[in-house]
Amino acid sequence: MHTYHTPLDLVRERSPERPVAIARPDAVAVAARWFQDKFKGDVFYAVKANPSPWVIEALVANGVTSFDVASIPEIELVAEHAPGSRMAFMHPVKSRRAISAAYFDHGVRTFSFDTHEELAKILDATGNAKDLNLIVRLGVQAEGAAYSLAGKFGVDAHQAPGLMLAARRATQDLMGVSFHVGSQCMRPTAYQAAMTQASRALVRAGVFADVVDVGGGFPSVYPGMVPPALDDYMDSIERGFAEMMVHETTELWCEPGRALVAEASSMLVKVELKKGDALYLNDGSYGSLFDAAHSKWPFPVKLMRAEDGEAAELEGNLKPLRFYGPTCDAIDHMPGPFWLPEDVREGDYIEIGMLGAYGVAMNTRFNGFGDAETAVCGDAPMASMYGLARRSIPVPRQENENVVKLSRARGKKRRRR
Ligand SMILES: *Cc1c(COP(=O)(O)O)cnc(C)c1O
Repeated sequence: MHTYHTPLDLVRERSPERPVAIARPDAVAVAARWFQDKFKGDVFYAVKANPSPWVIEALVANGVTSFDVASIPEIELVAEHAPGSRMAFMHPVKSRRAISAAYFDHGVRTFSFDTHEELAKILDATGNAKDLNLIVRLGVQAEGAAYSLAGKFGVDAHQAPGLMLAARRATQDLMGVSFHVGSQCMRPTAYQAAMTQASRALVRAGVFADVVDVGGGFPSVYPGMVPPALDDYMDSIERGFAEMMVHETTELWCEPGRALVAEASSMLVKVELKKGDALYLNDGSYGSLFDAAHSKWPFPVKLMRAEDGEAAELEGNLKPLRFYGPTCDAIDHMPGPFWLPEDVREGDYIEIGMLGAYGVAMNTRFNGFGDAETAVCGDAPMASMYGLARRSIPVPRQENENVVKLSRARGKKRRRR
């Protein structure tokens, strides 16, 4: 992977033809250290948010050595890039073959489930192993989350106690509870509320949990979606834990995906055509921009232009634009609005920020597109939950001046790592 000081340097040096995933390992490092420091328990990274090797390596280098995995390919990826790390197979529905391979070939001991049938499958596929950590996944209210994860998985309050009891009896190792409050959770109190639900079920079952896993859902910052400080989430979890029926050695776990990686990557895309208020880009909803199309998230953008060996960031007289991706499918459309200088034209580059989570992870090769490269940059992300950003997300504004301001790219010095 090549290293540049900023995406603008990359544009000036090689005007990339393919979309480029901009990797900022320093931002992963800051988020990883923050969670290690502030979360009073073990941090498992949810690999699905961004399975890029550079992410996994940056996490390991900064102390996050536990991983929430959902498939054998994710397990193999972690085994390759973070050998010796601890993995938890937290998908509540797994194939027997996947369970066996995880247990016997990869040393995975932690499995989650939300039915008696899946628990029986786990016991059977591990040869009735006695050293399992069995985690009951509860269904909880997803109040205040952008994406609910409750509809598909999680045992309801009525059936939870029976499943907890069965899990307690099935293992001599750890029995625990987990939940997911929903992704991009905007309400810190959702965690405490979910822990109260978990506690009630434990009391009814008459068992103590050895593990309380509060899942993922920790937010990042997007235009029009500025969440409360992450400290408030930690406070809510601490309050919830203090009120739970647990014993002194009960472990607290979390499984952040988005919050560890969202700000650490952006996409550098090229404008292939301008048609009215629509820009046709070389990346789209079948590439790294799934959320921009399907959730209509207005990601932050920056415009760059390369000319005569120079490159500049363009500002001024912003206009609301929409994007189309490169495939022939009409749903490859991102309504935005994305506020960009009105003289944007073919050949320009756009950096689309805050795409480290559920960006490249969603990439397909539909229609022959989606082949992105990766480059490392040492500058700050466009916005940050960790006080990293030099400026916050640009707010749409309309100016009357027709002048396009050019801020010349700084020197040609490259930062090597
Ligand atoms: C997706 C997922 C996560 C990560 O969720 P974020 O909202 O990205 O933090 C954690 N745990 C489980 C079980 C998941 O499915």
